[in-house]
Amino acid sequence: MNSPEALYPATRDAALARWRAFLPRASRYGALRNRVVSGHPDVTRLSAAVRARLVTTEELVGSLLETHRFEAVEKLAQELVWRDYWKGWLELRPEVWTAYRAEVDHLRQRADPAVLERAEAVMAGRGGIAVMDRFARELIETGYLHNHARMWWAGYWIHVERLPWALGADFFYRHLLDADPASNTLGWRWVAGLQTRGKAYLPRRSNLEKHCAPEWLADPTGLERLDDSVVAAVPVPDDGPALRGPWESLPEHPDASRLEPGLGGLGGVGGGGGRSGRWGLWLHGEDLSVERSALAGFHPEVVLSVFDARRVAAFGMAAPRVAYLKTALADGLARAGRHFTCPAEACETGETLAEALARVARERRLDGWVAMRPSVGPLGEAIPAIEAALARDGRRVLWCRRRWDEQTWPQASAGFFGFWEKARRRLSAGARDPRQSELSFG
Ligand SMILES: Cc1cc2nc3c(=O)[nH]c(=O)nc-3n(C[C@H](O)[C@H](O)[C@H](O)COP(=O)(O)OP(=O)(O)OC[C@H]3O[C@@H](n4cnc5c(N)ncnc54)[C@H](O)[C@@H]3O)c2cc1C
Repeated sequence: MNSPEALYPATRDAALARWRAFLPRASRYGALRNRVVSGHPDVTRLSAAVRARLVTTEELVGSLLETHRFEAVEKLAQELVWRDYWKGWLELRPEVWTAYRAEVDHLRQRADPAVLERAEAVMAGRGGIAVMDRFARELIETGYLHNHARMWWAGYWIHVERLPWALGADFFYRHLLDADPASNTLGWRWVAGLQTRGKAYLPRRSNLEKHCAPEWLADPTGLERLDDSVVAAVPVPDDGPALRGPWESLPEHPDASRLEPGLGGLGGVGGGGGRSGRWGLWLHGEDLSVERSALAGFHPEVVLSVFDARRVAAFGMAAPRVAYLKTALADGLARAGRHFTCPAEACETGETLAEALARVARERRLDGWVAMRPSVGPLGEAIPAIEAALARDGRRVLWCRRRWDEQTWPQASAGFFGFWEKARRRLSAGARDPRQSELSFG
């Protein structure tokens, strides 16, 4: 069998090659995307690359619209933008992530042992419905599931097995190569009926028989448990998450005028010129194409990536996911090193992120780090410790955010429909960042 990395591109070049090969078929995506068949040829399988930002939604949507009429590829553009909607939605309601993680910890320690035992069996592919067991094994072996299979399996876990949604979400989070705090947590909440009140997703046998490859249903064991007349939604509490306070805007790049006197400036960034400083660029797994952002003109002393083994272990990341992350980080680091023509250092010392960033800053006599601000999730949780570790030495991090995120995320305050209408208008009007032109097919 091909390794997960071969099936799911882990470098920017491989992701671009996958996208270019898929583009001619993009207009058939809307009609075929729900089919679950071997090899998943009808979908891009680029989610892990998008998650690590080896490629950005913006450049994918941009090249899609350069090569097709908007109406012909609207469905694919819409799915690509769904990801940004979920990112913004969670960024505006960070306590949804915190509450979910607390629930996972609580369940692991306090849940009825019989529930935990059943959960283990279902996760191991021993739940008793042959097709669902197959999906569990596919997830463990490859780190990927088709969107429809994710919906069916999550629905089966919640509404058929009646297991706690948070434990199922954690299982996905540990194994998916594309594991994303927003898409995963909110995808599970949506299936449970927490995300859109009164709208749980039920895994119905008729739907599987319509969209799933017949050979995957050849073993009918347990299918009767999914009969349309049998499956019923589990009631959910109304947890109505509140919106966080005002949106905290961040610049695309740390303009020198933002720096306090005495901290030095960033040569070449934002036309601030004049003052100089010693800044490093921290590259992490949420944005591995920084050289294709407004930071492209930055002159860092060093580019650093940190593999935080303790964080990875704390979240129980599965081996294929760890391997994917390492390959993607190495690819991002190599490209950044070439682009910024400075040393590119990979740190895997067993230190935490905060410790590694503080130590390298001291060793290289940096004023601090410039970085894309991590979004809500495990990396975002590390921000206070990073800032505190640097502040102890009088250093700091200058956080940046891509203009695309700054424009789209705050719009996720309500439902997807309104969000999509705004994105649709912007996209069909062709508003794109010209710096993202590598995928131009014009
Ligand atoms: C329970 C559940 C959990 C999920 N967990 C994740 C996750 O952790 N990470 C993740 O990236 N996606 C998640 N998704 C969304 C979706 O299933 C995957 O993005 C998609 O299956 C990835 O395959 P693809 O790249 O071939 O998608 P394609 O169909 O080719 O879509 C193209 C891109 O659009 C985006 N996209 C497509 N569908 C969705 C969607 N429903 N929501 C958000 N973005 C979407 C992805 O970036 C994807 O790469 C989850 C969905 C469900 C129902």
